[in-house]
Amino acid sequence: MAGEVSSAPTVTGNRALMLEEPLLFEIGSRDQTGVDFEPHSEGTSRMGGLERDSLDLPGLSEPEAVRHYTRLSRQNYAIDLGLFPLGSCTMKHNPRLNEKMARLPGFADIHPLQPQETVQGALELINKLAFWLIDLTGMHGVAMSPKAGAHGELCGLLCIRAALEARGDARQVVLVPESAHGTNPATAAFCGYRVENIPATKTGRVDLEALKARLGPDVAAVMITNPNTCGLFEPDMKAISDAVHAAGAFVYCDGANFNAIVGKVRPGDLGVDAMHINLHKTFSTPHGGGGPGSGPVVLSEALAPYGPLPFAAKYPDGSYKMVEEETAGEEHPDAFGRMVAFHGQMGMFTRALTYILSHGADGLAQVAEDSVLNANYILRSLEDVLDAPFAFSGPCMHEAIFSDKGFAEGFSTIDVAKALIDEGFHPMTMYFPLVVHGAMLVEPTETESKANLDQFIAALRSIAERAKAGDQALKAAPIYAPRRRLDETLAARKPVLSYNNPAPDGSSTGLGAHFGGG
Ligand SMILES: *Cc1c(COP(=O)(O)O)cnc(C)c1O
Repeated sequence: MAGEVSSAPTVTGNRALMLEEPLLFEIGSRDQTGVDFEPHSEGTSRMGGLERDSLDLPGLSEPEAVRHYTRLSRQNYAIDLGLFPLGSCTMKHNPRLNEKMARLPGFADIHPLQPQETVQGALELINKLAFWLIDLTGMHGVAMSPKAGAHGELCGLLCIRAALEARGDARQVVLVPESAHGTNPATAAFCGYRVENIPATKTGRVDLEALKARLGPDVAAVMITNPNTCGLFEPDMKAISDAVHAAGAFVYCDGANFNAIVGKVRPGDLGVDAMHINLHKTFSTPHGGGGPGSGPVVLSEALAPYGPLPFAAKYPDGSYKMVEEETAGEEHPDAFGRMVAFHGQMGMFTRALTYILSHGADGLAQVAEDSVLNANYILRSLEDVLDAPFAFSGPCMHEAIFSDKGFAEGFSTIDVAKALIDEGFHPMTMYFPLVVHGAMLVEPTETESKANLDQFIAALRSIAERAKAGDQALKAAPIYAPRRRLDETLAARKPVLSYNNPAPDGSSTGLGAHFGGG
């Protein structure tokens, strides 16, 4: 209980084995270093006067440097430490087999400019993964190179624009539901489209009639997330696609939530023209703390000819080739261009293919089933104590949405999130999607045991009861973390990102003026 804990500070500032850690610049001294540089040779500089006299690097011994970063790493939360219920992010366990495969030298130690005959295995892997992504989605082609979900959205919309331009059709508008991830309208605007919102129904789904009423010759595409960001399946998806196609437009599906339907539903059967797959969500692979993203885009027959270069093609003699050029006579004369310098994220491809092959078709379907089961377990276990705005309309998909309705005056979602930190959990996604006031989007994923879910539910239940009762102690949370609440607005609006050497008299505050909460 908060009130019973003595707040007497320790001499060191450390708390149990949670160690305080100053900035590197504050612990290092400039006259101490682990490296001796050669005295630099005389000669004419080609730096154009930009060379520095002193780098002012903090000097530390090896154990000091190792301890600095190890201590900082202990202040991080990770999926390897516990449940990470960040809705829309699919923070699932990363099987170590994936890591083992990704580190095989034939995949890890190759260079994108190596002669193609020396990397046939890597090209085969990219081609195989492409095959399975097409198979799982019921689509026609796939662009493998986009490097994250948002990059995939850009790729998909560029394909749509190229297809429209090819038929001499300059449309200006992209329709996006109110609940969409911010990357959807951002992508459409970046591609030069005007973004208009599609309203939602009371059950949190796209309003089909409103959408139909808005379709017309100026609409290039509709971007829909399915399952949507309220964690709900869009049952009208086929009717939406049919209406969009009848109006001469394309259907972009944000596939970030594919985890809920992988192995169960093929977006191609629902009339989708383009969909990115976040390999780093659905197919495990570490993200949100180090690992890169990867966002291949599956394409319908209508859009596949416009997909970007390069791609790994298989030839009748069994060899593989990275098709790099849009030369006449090559397979791909209509490519809109190129997304990235090389071929995408090899390590992520290796992890994703390992994940797919080790699960098999039945295993992937079970991923979807268990992720949905876990989310519904959380929804039904907490709906008596937390407002669940769409629970009346039936089961959710792989994430459960709650709101702060019913909390005592002055209490909001942020208080729940901060209290979860004290309970040892990473907070859920907060205040997203925007269509739910004070949203709390909880995505447990299929890799949590019932015991873990029960512990999380008990923690969230107790916090929700305190928020409803107006327990003022909740306002102080987190009290056990290395820092108290930060001034998040100030930190976001005026981030202090550089370190100023303290003046000799110690008057400068250096970095951290806005972050030194506790
Ligand atoms: C994660 C996510 C994205 C963006 O994917 P990134 O890989 O982070 O660029 C887009 N839409 C939704 C619904 C998401 O959850």
